[in-house]
Amino acid sequence: MNREWLEKDFYKELGVSSSATPDEIKKAYRKLARDLHPDKNPGDSKAEERFKAVSEAHAVLSDAEKRKEYDEARRLFASGGFGRGGFSPGGGYAGQSGFSEFNLGDIFGGAAAGAGDGGLGDLLGGLFNRGGGTRASSRPRRGSDVETETTLGFREAAQGVTVPLRMTSPSPCTTCHGSGAKPGTSPRVCPHCNGTGVISRNQGAFGFSEPCDDCRGTGSIIDDPCSDCRGTGIQNRTRTITVRIPPGVRDGQRIRLAGQGEAGLRGAPAGDLFVTVHVSQDKVFGRNGDDLTLVLPVSYAELVLGTTVSVPTLDGRVGVKVPPGTADGRTLRVRGRGVPKRGGGAGDLLVTVKVAVPQKLDDNASDALRRYAEAEKEGGFDPRAGWAGA
Ligand SMILES: [Zn+2]
Ligand SMILES: [Zn+2]
Repeated sequence: MNREWLEKDFYKELGVSSSATPDEIKKAYRKLARDLHPDKNPGDSKAEERFKAVSEAHAVLSDAEKRKEYDEARRLFASGGFGRGGFSPGGGYAGQSGFSEFNLGDIFGGAAAGAGDGGLGDLLGGLFNRGGGTRASSRPRRGSDVETETTLGFREAAQGVTVPLRMTSPSPCTTCHGSGAKPGTSPRVCPHCNGTGVISRNQGAFGFSEPCDDCRGTGSIIDDPCSDCRGTGIQNRTRTITVRIPPGVRDGQRIRLAGQGEAGLRGAPAGDLFVTVHVSQDKVFGRNGDDLTLVLPVSYAELVLGTTVSVPTLDGRVGVKVPPGTADGRTLRVRGRGVPKRGGGAGDLLVTVKVAVPQKLDDNASDALRRYAEAEKEGGFDPRAGWAGA
């Protein structure tokens, strides 16, 4: 996947400028991901393509290190620093990737005498890899990280849930087993570069290597491309994996599932899967960190006289004692009945009382209330005592 970075404009993909802040990138991505999510656009392959492209762009640009590499490589590319050949994606059929891949470490390593480790070759080694057999390519490449999203119900998110996630990611073509050549045929070694993918030439004191034009840096030539993957050796495959979302995730939280990303090449470890979780609202509950919140409707009489009310929690109900003389709007705390915490235990349940005022009273109740109001006055209660300078 990485080798294709250069021909992609990730900034354009997300609709942000190349100087966008991480926050702007995140915002642009979240909006696009929501609009293009496969769940929202079932059967719309265009939206799915865009969703994948946007996810890939975000995976690179949201990672400060990857973004730096990408910017640097594109800057070099734009300035022609990679030399001619190799990168013209228009040309005829050549390698298994459909796009030239070659080792920049070789190109620059040859020119910059004594550049050694940590030089430009290393910087770009992170970006590119190749199928051929040269120095940097012996390092197995870890699979790419994959981004996806899911929406959970409020209680599911609070309590943890196992969800199936449908994901589309590139994997080796099953027809040609990734070779890119039609079954029964195989790619042949490029005679021009003897399979190395690079041509060396000398110029003055320096030796240069540059990607082979014939095989476009891949080292092999496919005469008969596999029709299923059009010679790329890669197919997009949809898989469904079951993911355990831990209890207590918050809306917008990004969960990392190690090793659940794209498979690595040549036995390298798989990448990670990042799931951005959206949590839908609940009719009764709200959340404040690990605390569960709810508003409890009560009558004026209940606040004055005190009562015990049965309220729902995430698991079952609990009796909440409203003490006599509780003020409207006061929040009562029930310890340990909130959202489960990561390390065990749970937050609290915060119950805020709110007086419900009857819109209509029958004669009986009205009379009683009038009598009560008089008695209250006689008893010396003044609701506005000390209020507004009185
Ligand atoms: Zn194929
Ligand atoms: Zn060649």
